[in-house]
Amino acid sequence: LMQLAVPLNFIGFVYREIRQAVTDIEQMFGLLDMKQEVTDAPGAAPLAISDGTVRFEDVHFAYDANRQILKGVSFEVPAGKTVAIVGPSGAGKSTISRLLFRFYDVQQGRVTVDGQDVREVTQESLRAAIGMVPQDTVLFNDTIAYNIRYGRNDATKEEVVYAAEQAQIADFIERLPEGFDSMVGERGLKLSGGEKQRVAIARTILKAPPLLILDEATSALDTQTEQSIQAALDVVSRGRTTIVIAHRLSTVINADQIIVLRDGTIAERGTHAELIAENGLYASMWMRQREATEAEERLRLAREAE
Ligand code: ATP
Repeated sequence: LMQLAVPLNFIGFVYREIRQAVTDIEQMFGLLDMKQEVTDAPGAAPLAISDGTVRFEDVHFAYDANRQILKGVSFEVPAGKTVAIVGPSGAGKSTISRLLFRFYDVQQGRVTVDGQDVREVTQESLRAAIGMVPQDTVLFNDTIAYNIRYGRNDATKEEVVYAAEQAQIADFIERLPEGFDSMVGERGLKLSGGEKQRVAIARTILKAPPLLILDEATSALDTQTEQSIQAALDVVSRGRTTIVIAHRLSTVINADQIIVLRDGTIAERGTHAELIAENGLYASMWMRQREATEAEERLRLAREAE
């Protein structure tokens, strides 16, 4: 009986893992009502990761034939480096992450990971290699330790605590009445957006995927929360090929390269300092963002003083 119990356990584990990964990703992309559009190529092999280089080569893509979203986009995320995608709302930033996950196929060009076209590897292996920190994490109605351990079910208590420390959420957890055993989710403690995001970061630190997509929160966070999230993101992206989908601009300053999307093409690319010096689209987005952040901060301070 023992011989049977182990594989059954394992199957249960794998099933839960996959279910969870699928749920996170579906929620992230709002795909729950969407039918499966892509399927594995016959005889598709699992993705073989060597160093984790991602390339978009002359990618053309449209959701509807009459509105082209990407019109020949090419860039590389070298192994272990961070590339941030910025651009006006609706420019196609999240579309790029959907194409890397292969939720859709490109109409022209290709997307590769370590030289393998994402259309030629199994979707399961592709998605297992990509970690995602979504902007809004849905927590399970269970303990906070359980929620972090979802990154890797066999992690020890020490590993969970260490991941929480790295994600800058351990102090917060230890101050809760029941620490790591505190119940969270709809029926437990409600965590703030910033706290939930740090739980997602701790999960991803445990999972340790070779490729990472960070979906920066759209909503403004206070400066201190922003800084601790930034520190946590720096830890999780260190040495890992990372694409940052930057809806605001707070996470991009340290990116190895920033890509500015506009009207379906790459309008500018460079480091933060280079793009500021260029005084183009990025520089003007940055100025506007800074003014908005300062105004928010003044408003918050005024409210606190009342
Ligand atoms: P934001 O910063 O506002 O999130 P974004 O740059 O991430 O924007 P995308 O989500 O990539 O933008 O969307 C690019 C364009 O494609 C938008 O005009 C959007 O309306 C459109 N779009 C996104 N998903 C679909 C879909 N499933 N079907 C049709 N059009 C879509």
